[in-house]
Amino acid sequence: MEKQFRVLLYYMYVPIENGEEFAREHLNFCKELGLKGRILVADEGINGTVSGTIEATEKYMKAMNEDPRFAEMVFKVDEEDAHAFKKMHVRYRKELVTLRLEDDINPLMVTGKHLEPATFYEAMQDPDTVIIDARNDYEYDLGHFRGAIKPDITNFRELPEWIRENKEQFEGKKILTYCTGGIRCEKFSGWLVKEGFEDVSQLHGGIVTYGKDPEAMGKLWDGQLYVFDSRISVPVNRTEHVIVGKDYFTGEPCERYVNCANPECNKQILCSEENEHKYLRGCTHECRVHPRNRYVAEQGLTEEQVAERLKDLEKDTVKIG
Ligand SMILES: [Zn+2]
Repeated sequence: MEKQFRVLLYYMYVPIENGEEFAREHLNFCKELGLKGRILVADEGINGTVSGTIEATEKYMKAMNEDPRFAEMVFKVDEEDAHAFKKMHVRYRKELVTLRLEDDINPLMVTGKHLEPATFYEAMQDPDTVIIDARNDYEYDLGHFRGAIKPDITNFRELPEWIRENKEQFEGKKILTYCTGGIRCEKFSGWLVKEGFEDVSQLHGGIVTYGKDPEAMGKLWDGQLYVFDSRISVPVNRTEHVIVGKDYFTGEPCERYVNCANPECNKQILCSEENEHKYLRGCTHECRVHPRNRYVAEQGLTEEQVAERLKDLEKDTVKIG
């Protein structure tokens, strides 16, 4: 049966006047259409991901493209069976993506070359090329382009500093950057150009577009793509599926993300169902025994049952040790 819902992913760098007012009105418009999702509005542009019925998303795209500011905006569309969000948020921010730069980058003025998926696929195979993943570590861990460099950072903001510290790796090379939908690379590749790197290119439309491209077919992508909605991950490579994710506890191949059950930690970890039960979905001993452990509450475990599991874990550790 045809799927009745869609998820839209889109961005555009374009000056938006009275951004706060625009955000308020836009929220009402989205609610009227029955959309759900997250949209960021800044003076420099818009970045959103929303879900809705075919009819609602169709109306939304049409209305946006009729606005001269967003006439050129490209929507990446996924067919789904249900909403991918619980609520509708439109928030006004200073910047669409934060690189914490001394001088902010305006991608309309300076940015890397935009490569279409098929060209990016070719470029990745050039031995003079380095591929830099411009996303966060937990996104990389679930899936990435084969051979791509994972910057040792936990947040996008730390990326410029990391590049400066590791500069020799990239000098004289052709640099390729990529991210989920392309928005982070607009700034990041622009920053690389400004920093003096001469041959900088970015994947136009991001991984999402790459996975849908009839020529690229998602090739050379390993694992899954992390997405910021209730789906958590989506497939990319349509020719093969290599699992790169590793279970947090055992290191076994795993593509299942859960949040640590300690509400004060909430860390995202890759973890099998079996290990989720075994470790009370806690990333550390402290998280397992936290008085408000969500797993314990969900499962309605008694104190005795919790003690039992912890004892089993101890036995396991002794065996391994
Ligand atoms: Zn934890």
